[in-house]
Amino acid sequence: MSVLPVALLAVSLLLVAVTAAGLFLRSRQRSRLAESLERERVLRTILDTVDVGIVALDKTGHRLLTNRWQSELEASAVPAGSPGPAQEAELLLAGHAQQAPLPPERRPIRRAAAGETFADYLVSFGGPPGARVVSTGARSLTDHDGGCAGAVVLFNEVTGLMEALAAKDDVVSTVSHEFRNPLTSIIGNLDLALSDPEELPAQAVRRIEVAQRNAERLLALVSDLLMSANSAVHVRPRRTDVASLVEASLGSAHAHARSASVALSMDVPGPLWANLDPLRISQALDNLVSNAIKYSPDGGTVRVSASTEGGTVRLLVQDDGIGMTAADAEKVFTRFYRSPAVREGPIPGAGLGLSITKAIVEHHGGTVSCSTRPGLGSTFTVELPTAGPSAS
Ligand code: ADP
Repeated sequence: MSVLPVALLAVSLLLVAVTAAGLFLRSRQRSRLAESLERERVLRTILDTVDVGIVALDKTGHRLLTNRWQSELEASAVPAGSPGPAQEAELLLAGHAQQAPLPPERRPIRRAAAGETFADYLVSFGGPPGARVVSTGARSLTDHDGGCAGAVVLFNEVTGLMEALAAKDDVVSTVSHEFRNPLTSIIGNLDLALSDPEELPAQAVRRIEVAQRNAERLLALVSDLLMSANSAVHVRPRRTDVASLVEASLGSAHAHARSASVALSMDVPGPLWANLDPLRISQALDNLVSNAIKYSPDGGTVRVSASTEGGTVRLLVQDDGIGMTAADAEKVFTRFYRSPAVREGPIPGAGLGLSITKAIVEHHGGTVSCSTRPGLGSTFTVELPTAGPSAS
């Protein structure tokens, strides 16, 4: 047999094989492409079905994707008369609490593009009436090598929730207000009844004293409820000596400390001047000192120290009482929060004191934090700008 027909046969077979392989590969590529298009379609449908807004950014901060919910939310915040879809900077966005237009660098997508990670950042979309309150959050995306691949920003509408909270605050505020006048009258009359104790049998005096203590507790609770329902804390700053505020606070806590076998100590170089509202800061200090005593059921020492450094007054209230877990410490400034250990025990409280303290401190442009260990005690730190609230 000659070599030529065999070679021809081999080449033909090779051509057939190459053609078949080519066809096979092309059909594989086509089916892969179809698969990936189908997957993208499903993903897109899922993203457009969910009731939260989603925006994905690439690593240069440009939008890769905006789902349908988010496009509709943004459309509701386009200023009247605007020709078409607007950039984030042009939308009617306001900070939730202050209602002032949000500066471009504080807007959620801009913050995420700048690499910030955040959660529960409340923003109002659209002008009143009908503004929508949205809780926003951002997480960065990483690529295979752990580098930054962009960010995803989520938008979750909480208008209904905020309205329900406001309605609850209205009820609490109205009820507390209605309670205050009769309670003040009860306390006044009990005071009058005790003004001449010799005229009363000893048993009656003891009973009136119990009623008086409880009425005073109720009045303190009603005042706390009123204050916590009123988001507007009014602060009237003036030049104040912080050392004398600490002294007064420890003076009024003296009887409570003695009955709880707690020693009080003060380390404040006086005078220590700062621009603050003495009534409000005393209220915050009283809350911290009374907690420190209350949560030291086995006695111990409560120390209050104060110092100034670089335009900041720092107040520390330390105790060696029951302390808290790290998880509790994160939540103690939330209204009505009481640690599980305390909720089941005999120490009374409504979980309002620290949220009020935080509101007061923040209205002064300051911060309050807590460091604590279970069984080893707690330290609450308040930092306030010496120049006063407007300077922060
Ligand atoms: P209340 O004391 O009325 O419960 P607060 O808002 O003052 O409310 O405190 C909230 C919670 O924080 C308390 O219930 C308690 O669990 C915890 N807490 C506050 N201060 C201390 C402290 N000094 N030591 C331990 N736990 C504390």
